[in-house]
This record gives sequence, C-alpha cells and structure tokens, in this order.
Amino acid sequence: MTSCDTSALLPLAAALEQMHNTVQAVVEEEEIALHELLDRVTATTVESNCQVPGYDNSAMDGYALRAADAEQPLQLIGQSLAGHSFSGTLAPGQCVRITTGAAIPAGADTVVMQENTQLHADKLQVQKRPQAGDNIRRAGEDVQLGQQVFPAGHRLGPVDIALLASLGLTHVRVKRRLKVAIFSTGDELVAPGQPLAEGQIYDSNRYAIHAVLQRLNVEVLDLGLLPDQPEALRAALQRLGNQVDAIISSGGVSVGEADYVKDILTELGTIDFWQVAIKPGKPFAFGRLNRAFFFGLPGNPVSALVTLHQLALPALRALAGETPTAPLVLQATAASDYKKRPGRQDFQRGFLQRSAGSNHISRTGAQGSGVLSSFLGANAYAVLEAERGAVKTGDPITVIPFDRFLT
Ligand code: AMP
Ligand code: MG
Repeated sequence: MTSCDTSALLPLAAALEQMHNTVQAVVEEEEIALHELLDRVTATTVESNCQVPGYDNSAMDGYALRAADAEQPLQLIGQSLAGHSFSGTLAPGQCVRITTGAAIPAGADTVVMQENTQLHADKLQVQKRPQAGDNIRRAGEDVQLGQQVFPAGHRLGPVDIALLASLGLTHVRVKRRLKVAIFSTGDELVAPGQPLAEGQIYDSNRYAIHAVLQRLNVEVLDLGLLPDQPEALRAALQRLGNQVDAIISSGGVSVGEADYVKDILTELGTIDFWQVAIKPGKPFAFGRLNRAFFFGLPGNPVSALVTLHQLALPALRALAGETPTAPLVLQATAASDYKKRPGRQDFQRGFLQRSAGSNHISRTGAQGSGVLSSFLGANAYAVLEAERGAVKTGDPITVIPFDRFLT
C-alpha cells in the first residue's frame, strides 16, 4: 500500500463505533465519600431525598413583611437570621429583620431589601411598594424531593459534588476505577533525567499518556520503557492481560523493521483493527489480550496524543461506565491556509478565537506528527474532513475545542 492509498484504512467514525460495540463497562461498584468523588462515574441514578432549599428563605438582607401592609409604617418585632429563625408569627402591621438565607417567618409573604427601607427606632417605612413573593427563594426551587439529579454513567465534576453535598449525601455508588497499564517501546528512547547518547531521544509519550489517565482518574501501572525486542514485549504482555482493564502502548505499531507490538498482540490476543484514516495517527491498533483492551498508539508524539484523545479516550470512558457524550463541534473560518490531501481526516492544532462576531481558527505553527509544540498556544482542533483538499484562508472549517482531558 502506498501512502496515498487510504482504501484499507478504517474511517475514524467506524473505528469509534467498532470500539464502542466491543467495550463493556466494568461492573464492579463501590460507595465513595464526597472528598474522593471527583472524576468518578455514577453507577446508578442519584435521586434527591430532600428538597433544596428545604424551606422558604430570603434572597436579600432586609425585612420580612406582608406586602399588603407595606404602605403604613410597620412595627419591627424581631429578627430572622441565617441559622437562627424567628419563632413567632407576624400579625398585620408587623415586620421582622431578615438576612440572606434566613427562613421566612410565618405570616410574612415578602422580603423588602434593606436599601428600599428606612428604620426609625422600631418603625419601618417601606419606600417602594413590594409585590407578594418578592425576594423569597421557595422551598424546592433548586432541587425537588425525589428528583433525578444524575443519571447512571455520569462523570462527577466539582459542581456535581457541591450538588450532592447540598442534598446532604455523604457517599455515592460509583463504578470502580479502571486499572490501565502503559509502556513505551523504542530502542532510541531514554527516560528524562538520563544523558542522551547519539541517536537517542527522550520518551515523552508515556508522560502524556500518564497525565491524560490521571485526568481520567484511573489507576496507572507504568511499565516504563520496553526495548524493540519481541521477547521483551511478549514477556510484558503475557502477564498483563489478566491484571488490568486496558493496556496503552506507544510506538512499534507501524510497518517498520522494529515494529513488533502488532505481531505480539496478534500472537497473544486479537487485533480488531490497526489502521485508521486519521492524521496524524494512522497506525493505531485496537485489540484484546485476555480481559484487557489494548490500545497501541503510534510513536510520533502528536500522533500518540491525537489518537489517545480521539480514539482510546472515548473507549476508556465507556469502559469506565461513562455514557458517551458528543464533543462540542463549532463552525469557524480558516484564518490561515491549511495543507491537506484527500484521504484521511485531519486533526490540525489551532487557536480558536471570536472576532468581529464569528469564530476564526489559525494554525499554531508547523503541523508535522513529530512537532509536539504545535499544541503550544492551541486550544482547538481544526478538523479537516477526509475527502477534503487544501483549505484556504477564509474557507469554512469545523473545529473541536480541546476538552479538559487534553489541556
Ligand atoms: P514508531 O511508531 O515506533 O515507529 O515511532 C515513530 C517516531 O516516534 C519515531 O521518530 C520515534 O523515535 C518517535 N517516538 C516513538 N516513541 C516515542 C516516545 N515514547 N516519545 C517520543 N517520541 C517517540
Ligand atoms: Mg519505534
């Protein structure tokens, strides 16, 4: 196959669908406390067992009163502070000092903000005629009793955790964390911190993969660097298949002399596909090794990151029990020319910004698959459709902003 022959390559959407149909979410669940819930995935729906707020309360610092009384001077009879409610009942012509969040006293139907009143001794004059219900936060207006707050398969973020706490919940049933093994292959690779000899480079992919997996809140088993030797790969992979949920490798999946990863996987497990019509990143292998799913990323650093993000990550999220969500896709105008040949779907790195009322995306430097710095200053992919040719400045272009897993 020549580099222009893309007929044997699986389109990205088909690769994603195939992985999605293959991957089954882990079944084990556990109860986890609020402090440990960030980036965990709900195992069941979460319903509220109370209403929030639990009682009608004031949205302002001011005075609680009856709207119908507000024309006349009102007699101040007490106060309702947040955490210290007024225990009596307002009679006509009376009012109570109230602070934000304090319970509305019985008999009151309105809160008038402090700025719209004048108090002389214990007589309150309301300067602006209120409407009944003004400045009152109703019980249940945030969350109702029995309401479904989260579906199963929801990855919990900081706001979600605040919401759970507001319901008084201390623990949530979530899917267990994934365990994922990672390694880099390549005889030229050296771990940072060691001196480089002639022809050697630092391993950067393993650190990127590790960091993305940290964002995904998985347990990482880092096997380090493996040499380009079939025996070494075989030995490492043989014992892994029963230990982890997924294996992510970098390098050695193309068709070079030292590319053994695919061969060993075929020998020990199965390969579902290993070439995707995506650029950068054509050699991406997906397969299985006992109960572990295998993602073989290409070695070129940009290819490794793009395939990790676009291919492995959606599958890992599904494996973790997360319900898939479509990425945010925007339309923009090309603010630079883009080189492109028909064949593969391109994910070029760019800077997306809004100017003069529309979205513009400009290239962030050279876009070679080894140019990691093309991610510097980038905040989005310029996604060039497979069949498309060169893009000129001013042409319409589809963009996908980076998400929190990448940047
Ligand atoms: P490969 O996919 O093994 O043929 O590698 C393709 C290119 O990516 C080569 O230039 C490798 O030196 C480079 N490469 C492979 N693995 C890594 C890595 N872990 N970190 C940085 N560059 C890598
Ligand atoms: Mg290699």
